[in-house]
Amino acid sequence: MVSQCTRFAITEGFSREILINYEKEIQATPKGFSKYLINKEKGNKEYDKFISDNALYSIHPKANGYVWNSFSFITNLIIDISVNTIDTPISPILNELLVEAIEIRYLIRSQKKLEQYLTKISGVSLRTIHIVIKDMEVDEKYLSRLFSHPLIKNIALPISFKKSLTLDVIHKDMSQGISFYDPEEKSLINLHITPSYELVSESKEYHTYFNRKLYISSSCQVKNAPESTEEFADIRLIDCKELKTIVQSIAFQKYWRVTKDNCDVCSDCEFRNICVDRRIPKQREERWYHEKECNYNPYINKWKGETGYVSLQTTGIISSAKTFRIDSDNVAYLNRILWEEI
Ligand code: SF4
Repeated sequence: MVSQCTRFAITEGFSREILINYEKEIQATPKGFSKYLINKEKGNKEYDKFISDNALYSIHPKANGYVWNSFSFITNLIIDISVNTIDTPISPILNELLVEAIEIRYLIRSQKKLEQYLTKISGVSLRTIHIVIKDMEVDEKYLSRLFSHPLIKNIALPISFKKSLTLDVIHKDMSQGISFYDPEEKSLINLHITPSYELVSESKEYHTYFNRKLYISSSCQVKNAPESTEEFADIRLIDCKELKTIVQSIAFQKYWRVTKDNCDVCSDCEFRNICVDRRIPKQREERWYHEKECNYNPYINKWKGETGYVSLQTTGIISSAKTFRIDSDNVAYLNRILWEEI
């Protein structure tokens, strides 16, 4: 990222840049545009019109009005509610760790038990409750009742429920909070591309997915995130103070400060300040890499499924435990075919 002010930021990738306009959207710009803008150059009519159309006058190379921070020890708690975890005293945890948002993955088939569980939730800093229903039939009336809880902002349901629900009968504000997910989706790569000011700031210092996250599994294991392999304790055997000690440990926070700038491939990607990536990073000396390829190839600016997309391997990018290499000739050749010889 070359600069940031309150309205927009620009992130340079391998062969193009993106303008992240916090008030509008994300737009791709050619490589060199940010330099032109920062140096206040003149003479390129296309760039000048773009600057004028988007009112990009307040940019300053050193402008950086917001450094991400949070008073929460854990901003996001994810808990699987199973027969093992439903009796875990949740409010003391929320208060001890000053949790901002909780995601309840509800695995039990009792509607009543979920409502009872929600009455037990309170946290001084809690702002949002997100519910994921795994395997329980629900109807519009029940969903409306859940939404009467002031902190419930979103309820995610299996995609198979979509046909049987008539969301029109639910209040508009509530129906907008309902989303559907595919339970068969197993990919660890889950990207959210959002032009969020907070996300951009967090991405400069932290991993936007693993940072300040805590997961309690259906079998009561304490982990950083559902994708993590390391288990730190059984929640039934520790109290809140011990849990706080765990989340403050170096081992628990292993991935929190792994930024995309420190990850091979991602550091060449123009989306690196606005993407939330669930893959576990692997360390190679001072750098990090991923074992699975992302759905986006930043060397040719193509998403999987788009015409012309090829994998990183085919592009000539080797990112492994041993090495990181870019076959520049092959990358240039592919880009010529894709973008110049139309
Ligand atoms: S390569 Fe994929 S995971 Fe990495 S920054 Fe780009 S979009 Fe995000």
